[in-house]
Amino acid sequence: MSKQTGSLSINSENIFPIIKKWLYSDHDIFYRELISNGCDAITKLKKLDIIGEYTIPENTEFQITVSVNQEQKTITITDNGIGMTADEVGEYINQIAFSGAAAFLEQYKDKTNEEQIIGHFGLGFYSAFMVAERVTIDTLSYREGAKPVHWECDGGTEYEMSEGDKDTVGTQIVLYLNEDSYEFSNEYRAREVITKYCSFMPVDIFLINENAPKEEPVENNAQTDSAVNEDNTDGEDEKEEKKPVPLNEKNPLWNKHPNDCTEEEYKEFYRKVFHDYREPLFWIHLNMDYPFNLKGILYFPKLNTEYDTLEGTIKLYNNQVFIADNIKEVIPEFLLLLKGVIDCPDLPLNVSRSALQNDGFVKKISDYISKKVADKLSGMYKTDKENYEKYWDDINPFIKFGCLKDEKFAEKMNDYIIFKDLSGKYMTLSECLEENKEHHENKIFYVTNEQEQSQYINLFKEEHMNAVLLRHNIDTPFITHLEQKNENVKFIRIDADLSDAFKEETSEDELKEIQEKLTELFQNKLKNDKLEVKVDKLKNEAISSMITVNEESRRMQDMMKAYGMAGMDPSMFGPTGETLILNSNNRLVRYLLDNPESEHAELICCQLYDLASLSYRPLAPAAMTKFIARSNEIMNILIQ
Ligand code: ADP
Ligand code: MG
Repeated sequence: MSKQTGSLSINSENIFPIIKKWLYSDHDIFYRELISNGCDAITKLKKLDIIGEYTIPENTEFQITVSVNQEQKTITITDNGIGMTADEVGEYINQIAFSGAAAFLEQYKDKTNEEQIIGHFGLGFYSAFMVAERVTIDTLSYREGAKPVHWECDGGTEYEMSEGDKDTVGTQIVLYLNEDSYEFSNEYRAREVITKYCSFMPVDIFLINENAPKEEPVENNAQTDSAVNEDNTDGEDEKEEKKPVPLNEKNPLWNKHPNDCTEEEYKEFYRKVFHDYREPLFWIHLNMDYPFNLKGILYFPKLNTEYDTLEGTIKLYNNQVFIADNIKEVIPEFLLLLKGVIDCPDLPLNVSRSALQNDGFVKKISDYISKKVADKLSGMYKTDKENYEKYWDDINPFIKFGCLKDEKFAEKMNDYIIFKDLSGKYMTLSECLEENKEHHENKIFYVTNEQEQSQYINLFKEEHMNAVLLRHNIDTPFITHLEQKNENVKFIRIDADLSDAFKEETSEDELKEIQEKLTELFQNKLKNDKLEVKVDKLKNEAISSMITVNEESRRMQDMMKAYGMAGMDPSMFGPTGETLILNSNNRLVRYLLDNPESEHAELICCQLYDLASLSYRPLAPAAMTKFIARSNEIMNILIQ
């Protein structure tokens, strides 16, 4: 073949500068694009073998090798796939690949926000020019009598094609890196990028460092950060030559039938992919061929109790090629709290994010995933309640978040939301309502913090009343949501009000008179004329004072805190809703009533108020200092 030159004429003289400058943060995808082209080439050759148009020679080991040379600043990617004839290079590289890249750029050149394209899919072969100033292809087609082809292009719009010298079927691509991209010829960087994008591609991928001393073959498994195949050590016989290990896992677990996967395999996969050494609670294996193709595994991780946060990752794949993490346009937002992989070959990826958002097909996929999750959870409730309850503490924030975000999910989960009561027993909402029907119709009492609310919990227990535990931040919006859906139902925190059950019967008038006196006294001694005081005759004489906090005001403040306004003065958001409850059955309170002029009245008033506050929340620093000083003073009086 005589030397040919030509120009990549699709009236875009400056396509390369654009490719180079563009997508700055995602330059590394060229590895994915070139390696996946190699995979495609091998898959095609295997297909030809199956249909009898080609016979794969014996002992062929299909593989892709990536050789990096940091000294020469080159990357060589070699596959033993289908190869190309000169005509095919003309058609697939000069025309198809180029027009693919041109179309891709045309579609996105006006988009200022590079975030808009998911995984930058579709740029293909020409993504090489994001990192290389010169690219060569040497290829030999599988076809009988085919001649090797050499192609090269230096990043202008001109290419050169001539007969090459490749003598094995397949394709070799060499990138001569530009000076901004030398990093990609570094072995560790290369490993990192390939692991990120190619961990589950269907052909063995090997990494070779051409600068490494010859005697010591590169151990691809040397780094712990490679996602798969970390068990290469055949260290029993040191002399035995170490076989290189591919960087990837050709048959990812999600492609297997769920019946063929063992529990250990699921856990192992989880550890390797998410580097999380705590065991997942359980998982859902999605496996669907119709009406669309979708496979994946979703894991329910253990809650990170230290921070009480939910942080998931859902990795999206397209035919075993990694696209991106946490694409919220495809995966329902609440599912991003889980950890998992989803492979969906049918996803339209070469489109902008906003197009995905409005895509009916994508919506179907997302609905399907969310339905599957609800099915799994409700199934577990019905057939394996014991485990469901065991996991509840970890999974409930996730489920509640899902209910808040996704109406359909909420409907499906409606009967499977459970509440843990004071004795540790679990009940559904209707069971709670049934239990309270007689004495507290439509009311559900709850505890958010067992330590802070212990005094109230004791009162409840004394009167054989029940309450449920709602300890997570998500519970505040969640119970509001439940109240909206179940019109008459009211959730009341255990310290919001004192139930009549705790009180003795007494005449209203008597209490009113005492209340007026004590309000005046406390407001005066505490120098706070806004202090709300209420007198009750509690059965338990040992209780002197308590604080109740109005449910609405408190929820309002919880919301403010949740929106990060915690440091602000709470009174900015309306009344604090706090009421000081004094027990007219208590000796100290009676003493104050009878001796308002006592020299100790101020001490007692202040101490009673602080004690009531203390059992409900930590004192502010200044109040704490005063409280300690006053406590010492009281003890001094004892020994006078
Ligand atoms: P796509 O992979 O989406 O078709 P690319 O730009 O990546 O687009 O590649 C364009 C075409 O070039 C491919 O469809 C294929 O026919 C050909 N090609 C690219 N790389 C190889 C390779 N390593 N072996 C054989 N053919 C290849
Ligand atoms: Mg491609």
